[in-house]
Amino acid sequence: MLPIAAHMADLGTETAFEVLARAAELAAQGRDIINLGIGQPDFKTAPHIVEAAVKALRDGHHGYTPAAGIPALREAVAADLARRLDVAVDPGQVLIVPGGKVTMWFAILMFGEPDTEILYPNPGFPIYESAIRFTGATPVPLDEDRGFAFSAADVLARITPRTRLLIVNNPANPTGGVVPRAEVDRLADGLVDHPHVTVLSDEIYSRMLYDGREHVCLLGYPQLRDRVILLDGWSKTYAMTGWRLGYAVWPPALVEAATRLAVNSHSCVNAAVQHAGIAALEGPQDAVDAMTMAFADRRRTIVDALNRVPGFRCVEPGGAFYAFPNITGTGVAAKVLQTRLLEDAGVAAVAGTSFGAFGEGFLRFSYASSIDSIEAAMARINTYLTDHISARADTGSA
Ligand code: PLP
Repeated sequence: MLPIAAHMADLGTETAFEVLARAAELAAQGRDIINLGIGQPDFKTAPHIVEAAVKALRDGHHGYTPAAGIPALREAVAADLARRLDVAVDPGQVLIVPGGKVTMWFAILMFGEPDTEILYPNPGFPIYESAIRFTGATPVPLDEDRGFAFSAADVLARITPRTRLLIVNNPANPTGGVVPRAEVDRLADGLVDHPHVTVLSDEIYSRMLYDGREHVCLLGYPQLRDRVILLDGWSKTYAMTGWRLGYAVWPPALVEAATRLAVNSHSCVNAAVQHAGIAALEGPQDAVDAMTMAFADRRRTIVDALNRVPGFRCVEPGGAFYAFPNITGTGVAAKVLQTRLLEDAGVAAVAGTSFGAFGEGFLRFSYASSIDSIEAAMARINTYLTDHISARADTGSA
């Protein structure tokens, strides 16, 4: 065994990618697999965005760009935030990165070290906890129980003098939870009493909201403006997961340090992709609206169907494109059920425990998939659970 650094043992992973790999392996063996595991839109990127990238390549945009991103894209992000959310930021605070994930990595590297604490949602995006542990900081889970939205009082009660960073994710993965404005107001006001805490606000699902819900951007709170790191990007909103394009808005005092992290890691984002990013923000938004409307229909279909599955209970998610049913009625642990559904019923979903220990008793289904495949998956699960699991759970042997 080659001697690698001990802290590599602290690095976790994102199980959704393992489920994706196993689903692909089974499909390659000829199995018919319905994949509701991975969190990415099943739509293609809009043609005008693709054309902008092709044109940029034809026009000779082949070299490095500034590490923080091309100025026109940083300006387009600032203009988009002003237009969409009435949030004013200086383009100089905007850092263009290869995917939203990079911002969480940078923020956690910047704030985490031994003897400090970082608060993060659990269940939550698995990379938060993985990166926190890697830095040696103590991960302090925020378990959400009211319709999967955090409570400001609970969050504030967990802040200590050692807390460096608070991570919030609204709308949330894996739960689809959305925090109402009044609760975000309470959090913003309460944080005034804790000026040593910086907030990483992961708003990657900011455009995926249902039933008229509004997005509440933490940068919109004047009392927090100098200590919020906003994470967003193109992956989900514009169906661009494979392009690897994201952005962050950093507090002015942290822009230089964040840019240094970029120079030390990826140098800059692919130049042509950055041009595509401008086209996405400045071009027509009808593809985004159409996609969100399709997700809204699928959400109804999947939630109704999940509530008919023996042993499942599912609340209606307010945002993102995930349903997160409680599966405790099956009597089967989340990871075991994930494996059985994939191997035996041909349906890929992700165990709640992939998103942290507080995800036990839940499975995550991505409904970024056609209504037909959602219905077919639910029929398979129903048949499988009726034939196998409920009978076994009754005898306690599952
Ligand atoms: N944040 C959350 C909550 C996510 O669910 C994801 C992706 O699934 C990301 C960030 C990362 O997005 P990207 O693919 O742009 O790196």
